[in-house]
Amino acid sequence: MIGIGLDIGSVAAKGILLNGDEEYRALLPTGWSPRGAGEAIIEELLDLSSLRRTELNQVVVTGYGRVALPSADRTVTEIKCHARGVAELHPEVRTIIDIGGQDSKVIHVGANGRVLDFAMNDKCAAGTGRFLQVMATALGMDVSELGDNEDAEQTQTINSMCTVFAESEIIGLLAQGLPPGGIIAGLHQSVGKRVGAMARRLGIKERVAFTGGVAINAGVQRALKEELGCPLLIPASCQFTGALGAALLACNR
Ligand code: ADP
Repeated sequence: MIGIGLDIGSVAAKGILLNGDEEYRALLPTGWSPRGAGEAIIEELLDLSSLRRTELNQVVVTGYGRVALPSADRTVTEIKCHARGVAELHPEVRTIIDIGGQDSKVIHVGANGRVLDFAMNDKCAAGTGRFLQVMATALGMDVSELGDNEDAEQTQTINSMCTVFAESEIIGLLAQGLPPGGIIAGLHQSVGKRVGAMARRLGIKERVAFTGGVAINAGVQRALKEELGCPLLIPASCQFTGALGAALLACNR
């Protein structure tokens, strides 16, 4: 079977094409058009694999933009796709914590990636990748630079729960001359606390995997690990686990 899995997120559109043992990946910013991003990912994957569209058995799409791609054969929820993707890579995982651009989720999985329960925050930007993007802009950095620039020894606790107020708070801290490293560590702590609290409410069953684009950030990895008090498994290509799950489902695997 040849299948494509697409995860059209609020920030990034991710795609994986599976053709037997061969795997191809593509990532593009979603921008203003989830449909355009989804179509562009399909074209890029076909280019990379030298396949034609007619050779595809199925395209399965997930993510917030999934309804925007009428050319897909099937839509599947993100919860199911993340669970399937992580189960393929790390079958021993029982709790998945996924932090994406505009939501965070905690998923309990059983054997074979079966979803047992989940909790989700999609109401508030705090505790999501969007929060970190807004703060990185205020700090004059790209979000990808935050992890390497934190100074956890000097963590400056951020008191504001709301993204807009937290932005004002860090602008105030910078104006007082506080070093950015400690402020960045405080931002990571804030995300770790928010998401950690949600995970504790649902319950933490080891092993715990951390996925989504925010899992790339070593500072959030550190903060979440401290908050939960247990090791975190970060899958390679942690931003692609939803796309991988969708691709496996597209291949009926
Ligand atoms: P979505 O599926 O909602 O588009 P993703 O799981 O793709 O979300 O994650 C997007 C978030 O990941 C961004 O908001 C950003 O905070 C974070 N991110 C993306 N790339 C990086 C990177 N290279 N380093 C650190 N953080 C990143």
